[in-house]
Amino acid sequence: MNTKVIVVGADGRMGREVVKTVLNESDLSLVGAVDTRNHGLDVGVLTGGTPCGVLLAGNLGRVLEETGAEVAVDFTTPEIIRENLSVYIRHKVNIVIGTTGLSEEDVDDIDKSAREAGIGVVIAPNFAIGAILMMKFASIAAKYFPNVEIIELHHDEKLDAPSGTAIKTAELVKAGRESIRQGHPEEHEKITGARGAEFDGMRIHSIRLPGFVAHQEVIFGGLGQTLSIRHDSINRESFMPGVVLAIRKVLDLKGVTYGLEKLLTE
Ligand code: NAP
Repeated sequence: MNTKVIVVGADGRMGREVVKTVLNESDLSLVGAVDTRNHGLDVGVLTGGTPCGVLLAGNLGRVLEETGAEVAVDFTTPEIIRENLSVYIRHKVNIVIGTTGLSEEDVDDIDKSAREAGIGVVIAPNFAIGAILMMKFASIAAKYFPNVEIIELHHDEKLDAPSGTAIKTAELVKAGRESIRQGHPEEHEKITGARGAEFDGMRIHSIRLPGFVAHQEVIFGGLGQTLSIRHDSINRESFMPGVVLAIRKVLDLKGVTYGLEKLLTE
């Protein structure tokens, strides 16, 4: 039996890619699509293909009720997730969340509600397998090169900064090294923000420009040497194998599983 999937934020940049992907996977059935606009349009056509019989709708609760979906894939905003959480929980649908910018409190709330309802949730700030490897390599390097700066580069429609991936990388670096204060103790910014955001003594720089999709470089500096670890998502297809893996795995989970890496090692 195919897994019944709905996409929330289906008319967004990521949502459209997820719609196309789910339509192409033989063990998944797209049964619903929710967004704020283009209601009544067939999502197969909307994403450049042939009609698939699934029409964009606006009411998440109604879509869940009518379709009996088993998994909802959500690429919206943290505010929408907070609004929709009780609807997901009421319908006991498993959730795959790609939306970034959720706080620790948000994740704890989702975990508590999901455990009580007995549903699984995967939250992954980055579904690209190469990005997971980049973070893993960075966490290894941090032990030997404690001085590090992170530069993340995204398209200029991105709402949150720094990216979820940059924050996750910084957390991993923090866990992998002794805490230090980097840079000159007397350095000062002539223009506020010149040195980027500060996290546990390291700096994170967020670049927003048209032309980029999602990229990150982690630069380590040591005596007479630097080490750069870089990942580039050239297009949004890069996230899709990770999203499909999460859809398949979430059915067997309870509560929140945070980070695609948890699914890769299990
Ligand atoms: P986007 O193009 O703005 O798509 C979000 C979509 O959600 C929009 O179509 C938006 O409609 C819609 N939406 C707003 N309110 C809604 C509601 N109540 N119900 C259903 N849909 C609603 O953004 P995006 O570039 O696809 O990115 C979405 C999220 O994914 C962001 O948080 C981004 O950082 C994240 N992301 C994650 C990964 C990953 O690997 N985890 C990769 C890339 C991006 P309106 O435009 O009308 O508001």
